[in-house]
Amino acid sequence: MRASASLAAVALSALALAVWANQLPTPAPADAPSESFSAQRARADITWIGAEPHPTGSPANELVRKKLIARLEGLGLVVETQRVAGVVLPYDEPKGSTVTLENVIARVPGLDPTKPPLLLMCHYDSVPGSPGAADDGAGVAAVLEIARIFHGSRRTQRDLLLLFSDAEEPGLLGAVEFFKKHPLAKTVGAAVNLEARGGGGRAFLFETGAHSDELIRAFAHTARRISSSSFAAFVYDHMPNGTDFTIAKRLSIPGFNFAFIADPAQYHTAWSTPDALDLGSLQNIGDLVLASVACLDAPVPEARGGPLVWADLLGQRIIAYPAWAGWLLVLAIAASLAIASMRRAIRVRAAARGLGFALVLVVVAALALYAAFALGVLPESHHSYERLLLRCTRFELSLLLVSFGSGLIATRLCLKAADEDAMWIGLLSIGLIALVALQARVPQLTPPLAWPLVVAAVGAVGARSPLGSAWAALTATLSLAMTLSWAHGVYLGVGVFMPVALVIFVVTGSFAVLPLWARASRGSPRAGLIVLALGWVLALSIRY
Ligand SMILES: [Zn+2]
Repeated sequence: MRASASLAAVALSALALAVWANQLPTPAPADAPSESFSAQRARADITWIGAEPHPTGSPANELVRKKLIARLEGLGLVVETQRVAGVVLPYDEPKGSTVTLENVIARVPGLDPTKPPLLLMCHYDSVPGSPGAADDGAGVAAVLEIARIFHGSRRTQRDLLLLFSDAEEPGLLGAVEFFKKHPLAKTVGAAVNLEARGGGGRAFLFETGAHSDELIRAFAHTARRISSSSFAAFVYDHMPNGTDFTIAKRLSIPGFNFAFIADPAQYHTAWSTPDALDLGSLQNIGDLVLASVACLDAPVPEARGGPLVWADLLGQRIIAYPAWAGWLLVLAIAASLAIASMRRAIRVRAAARGLGFALVLVVVAALALYAAFALGVLPESHHSYERLLLRCTRFELSLLLVSFGSGLIATRLCLKAADEDAMWIGLLSIGLIALVALQARVPQLTPPLAWPLVVAAVGAVGARSPLGSAWAALTATLSLAMTLSWAHGVYLGVGVFMPVALVIFVVTGSFAVLPLWARASRGSPRAGLIVLALGWVLALSIRY
């Protein structure tokens, strides 16, 4: 019973830390100081942008454009439009009909007009059927608020170019036309893009342009409440997705791409209304873009060579280091494991036990996660997906229970063949072998493996000391919290429809909690089945 209680205490503290790590800032009030970003001020613009669906070529799109131009002129900016007639929309009916797209462009003068301008990009069109308050009304409103700041109380060195592109949704058409034909495009020195793939949650810095390592290093000093990592950026780079930033990136323009992706029921749906949008997300993306402007306004730092590895520490700030420094983490883990296994008189055979456990855990967790998806979502249909999107947080909670139950069950199964200490040190050794392979090939991917592993290994060294149980609980909580915090981002990115992808986090989560799982499942053999069943019932409830 005591073992179950300490397991529950660690799990709940780690969950609380992970929730805190993903917390949104409070939206600044409309009377916030004029040099700061206020989501409440920007909200007024969301109201007219997201009043109704406004796809490219529609009368509603024209209305949004007119209001946008009036707003920019009201700020005292000179506005121009780039008109491109005869554009064929790829999925328009009747086939072959054409529209005119119109990009809206404005300039906020900086102190030094000889410097290449910084481009702030967002798109003002929506998909048909969605008011698009989030995608990309939030981006438009945020850029307007930032233009107000830098045309009033603060000034940048570079000019700020504002591009409100049209026809992003049918295939980045406005951005393509801007970068292909507009004379200003060739002068751009850096770019920041604002996007949304949902109506809430943290704004992720998920993509970078040229000189990204130097810029991330500079940004890490100033950005707070930031969610970003080299592994997410690496994975995104290998996905087929695109935003307006894709076009800038192809031209080797340095810069950042931000998007918030939680509350996916608001993505391209009728639910994306001004009232539904989470103003905390708007505040978060606004604060981060403001910090980006300050970072990109300075001269781009010199390249220092080698790929950069970075990740956010519990959503607060970015920790960045050169790829070679990853070998120091490898050394620290190896040394910790050597000491921990000597203290326990564990032999090399333990590694085999650890491999056995890792394999059993992967199989059990993958099957259990897939079963949760099957219970809640299958057979696939428009309705089952819609329900899933609306109950996406509940599904996440069910996957958490399923993962935890799977861990308890896998531990219980393996305890019959090995003692828990050998299994634990073995598991951490397998983690280390995987880390060495990854560090040698793709160091950018290592943080979600290396960070929880180093904390767990240090935990294993101290676990036998006089203050051992407190030390073990503390390190287990921190290691698990990091894993849960990153797993949340991956869940929102790909895990909602592909929960089996989260298996990797079940394994990295087990680094710290395996000894707790072992003690708890020995004390209460059915605990794993009970937690798993609770998770499945919760998944099933998504249908009702
Ligand atoms: Zn968009």
